[in-house]
Amino acid sequence: MCPDSILIKNGYILTLNPQRHIIQDGAIHIEGNKIVDIGKTESLKRHKAETIIDATNKIVMPGLIDTHMHLAQALIRGCADDVSLVDWLKKYVWVLQGNFTKEDGKVSAELCMAEMIRTGTTSFIECMIHTRYGFDGIAKSLERVGMRGALSKIVMDSTGYADSSEIMYPGMVEDAEACLAEVEQMYPRWHGKANGRIQVWYGLRSLGGVTPELFREVAHLTREKKTKMTMHLGEVVDDVRFVKDNYGTNLTGFARQNNLLGPEMIFAHGIHFEDAELKILAETRSNICHCPASNTKLASGFAKIPQMLELGVPVSLGCDGGPSNNTYDMIREMRLAALIHKPIAKDPLVVSAEDVIEMATLGGAVAMGTDDKVGSLEVGKLADIILIDMHELGLTPAVNPVSSLVYSGSGQSVDTVIVDGKALMSDKQLLTLDVESIMTKARSHIVDLLERSEVDIHPKWPVL
Ligand SMILES: [Zn+2]
Repeated sequence: MCPDSILIKNGYILTLNPQRHIIQDGAIHIEGNKIVDIGKTESLKRHKAETIIDATNKIVMPGLIDTHMHLAQALIRGCADDVSLVDWLKKYVWVLQGNFTKEDGKVSAELCMAEMIRTGTTSFIECMIHTRYGFDGIAKSLERVGMRGALSKIVMDSTGYADSSEIMYPGMVEDAEACLAEVEQMYPRWHGKANGRIQVWYGLRSLGGVTPELFREVAHLTREKKTKMTMHLGEVVDDVRFVKDNYGTNLTGFARQNNLLGPEMIFAHGIHFEDAELKILAETRSNICHCPASNTKLASGFAKIPQMLELGVPVSLGCDGGPSNNTYDMIREMRLAALIHKPIAKDPLVVSAEDVIEMATLGGAVAMGTDDKVGSLEVGKLADIILIDMHELGLTPAVNPVSSLVYSGSGQSVDTVIVDGKALMSDKQLLTLDVESIMTKARSHIVDLLERSEVDIHPKWPVL
């Protein structure tokens, strides 16, 4: 018997293989970090395994991949609800994040990773790490916790946001040279480390926060290092005005001028592209991360996801952050993604349950550049697998488990999480993080942070 072998049996397996096979009463045999066999439970009986997981009444599927999220925002969950975007940034989010200590950064990252594992996320793209959050501490946590993650260091050289200049909170401002120097330091230390689970990326600030020269430099460095870059683009309509007024072009025209189009780029949100630009995104294989909860909560608008899928734009899914979502639950995100486009298109057939599951698995793997390793359950791929318990009132009966998962499910039904062949959660119990201690620390850190930042949060109703 191979040590570190796991046999998952009696499950309802969504393989996400090229034929999208579903295996009823299916089994998966894992040796080390790889899937070595998959098929009917009956035919995998010959395998002896160190650990046997009974997946009766459970969906077995690839781990979910969140391609746009902020680790630092778990700690400030619920700190900017029902406010305008400018207030959201200027009065709350930037002020709080601009007062973070490295210890806050670590507590928030671990709180966030615990929630992601609890709700079935195995890989993530953290889009913007400020030096004050402590890159090294976050990377060490990621290594120890066992998830797969891309950590993007913020790069910026201006203090604007879209067409508002000099708007950024002082504590959030960073120096371009220092940003680039930190990547030079962190890249050799962490990229490809932890058995390839950790990647180091460039996290470009939004329009108004980066000059064209710096955009071009980062585009060059990204390709030189064979890594990736990400930025918020077209989240607000002001982005469109900004590129028109300053560069006389549209969003993709601006991106092309600065070498930002291509499979190395993940544009988060991507709401305000004109119809004609979608073809350019498809042709250049530029990734769009759809963030439906954040976009509805902040009234940013609706990304043209049905058209993007039709044209073959690489689309993935992201939870964004604690003040904009306010969860890191990808199953709830899938539900919203499958719901919100139907009334806009006046067509219940657009963005199906299958579409959103593809976005949250294979689409995420394409965005992260890990689609040859994860995103589907196939022999030879890495064992990033989740089990979802369907034996629950809100999921019964699950006549079509695929649509039940999307339309009735939530991350709270996730039962088991395996990354790189190692269990990070079993029977809904996290194995690499102490949840009680993390929650206690988070409660005390947010009290200190609010006080230090002089930000006051309270319900609109009188509290007695
Ligand atoms: Zn974001």
